[in-house]
Amino acid sequence: MKIAVLAGDGIGPEIMAQALKVLRALGKDGLKLELEEAPFGGAGYDAHGDPLPDVTLKLAREAEAVMCGSVGGPKYDALPRPQRPEQGLLRIRKALGLFANLRPALLYPELVGASTLKPEVVSGLDIMIVRELTGDIYFGEPRGRRTNAAGEREGYDTMHYAESEIVRIVEVGFQTALKRNKKLCSVDKENVLETSRLWREVVTGLGKKYPQVELSHMYVDNAAMQLVRNPKQFDVMVTGNMFGDILSDAASMLTGSIGMLPSASLDATGKGLYEPIHGSAPDIAGKNIANPLATILSSAMMMRYTFNQDKWAQRIEAAVKRVLAQGYRTADIYEAGTQKLGTQEMGDAVVAAL
Ligand code: NAD
Repeated sequence: MKIAVLAGDGIGPEIMAQALKVLRALGKDGLKLELEEAPFGGAGYDAHGDPLPDVTLKLAREAEAVMCGSVGGPKYDALPRPQRPEQGLLRIRKALGLFANLRPALLYPELVGASTLKPEVVSGLDIMIVRELTGDIYFGEPRGRRTNAAGEREGYDTMHYAESEIVRIVEVGFQTALKRNKKLCSVDKENVLETSRLWREVVTGLGKKYPQVELSHMYVDNAAMQLVRNPKQFDVMVTGNMFGDILSDAASMLTGSIGMLPSASLDATGKGLYEPIHGSAPDIAGKNIANPLATILSSAMMMRYTFNQDKWAQRIEAAVKRVLAQGYRTADIYEAGTQKLGTQEMGDAVVAAL
């Protein structure tokens, strides 16, 4: 398993070190890994004047999977847009054709108190959001700014999906549903948008191929409402780039703990980039208090989705459940009666639990 390791900025290197520690610990049980690191984001800019240096992109292309920490920080905020760390992330997604973003929102029973919603609404929550990542209004042309005939400034963007783009992401949605509870909810705005009308037609057509999956459709405004009203009605949700951007953030916060949630971004062959959903948390960088569990859980997703090695994924996930059950917490999920650990100590606890 050849893995490119892009630790990035802020807390990135601290949390990545813990994930690597866990993967290396599995090496004792026969997991064979080739890990190679490269600078990315602000670190890429510092080393090579580019958030996605050529050496980093080359390594990412050659590897079977990419593990990312997080990028960005105040030091880089004044840079021109092409040099900003976040551009490195957009470029690597595009360059590797990573069109499918999988974001689980899973609530661990021990952390039910961390959610802002009532325990009875969220306990047992386990949703997977499948978001399209390389199309839609974020990439559609034409886009720009102009002055209209009345002399007023305007901004405009284009929502756009080709049928093949819809098919490939919705296939990922159905396949994901097959591996879980066989329920797929497709989210669109078919009552208003032409793009959504095509989306719904394509999804409905594909649904005939998957009679085992219970397919439903929901307007995005209703989906936002249902996510906070009764989130447990969902198993897998599939949607476009912009709707998925918004809904996946809302869904992740139902669990109350940004430091716990992993993500995968996949290409058509299963190659993937794995990263925690949170950013580089400059406010806590270098203090050994960041939660490394989202990054550790991202490595479990990598075992499952790129390497098809469920046994290693399950071992990592079981170890994380175990440390939570043992009462170990980092500062972001700490409650009275539990034991607070630093970043490194949490990594050690997961290794011990393995
Ligand atoms: P953030 O996710 O970095 O932090 C939000 C809050 O959550 C902060 O209070 C932070 O301390 C806390 N937090 C985040 N991760 C944590 C963890 N693992 N353990 C404990 N607490 C954690 O979001 P932000 O503050 O809006 O952005 C900071 C920088 O990160 C910006 O430069 C932004 O552009 C970048 N960013 C990068 C990514 C990415 O790399 N994928 C994603 C989002 C934001």
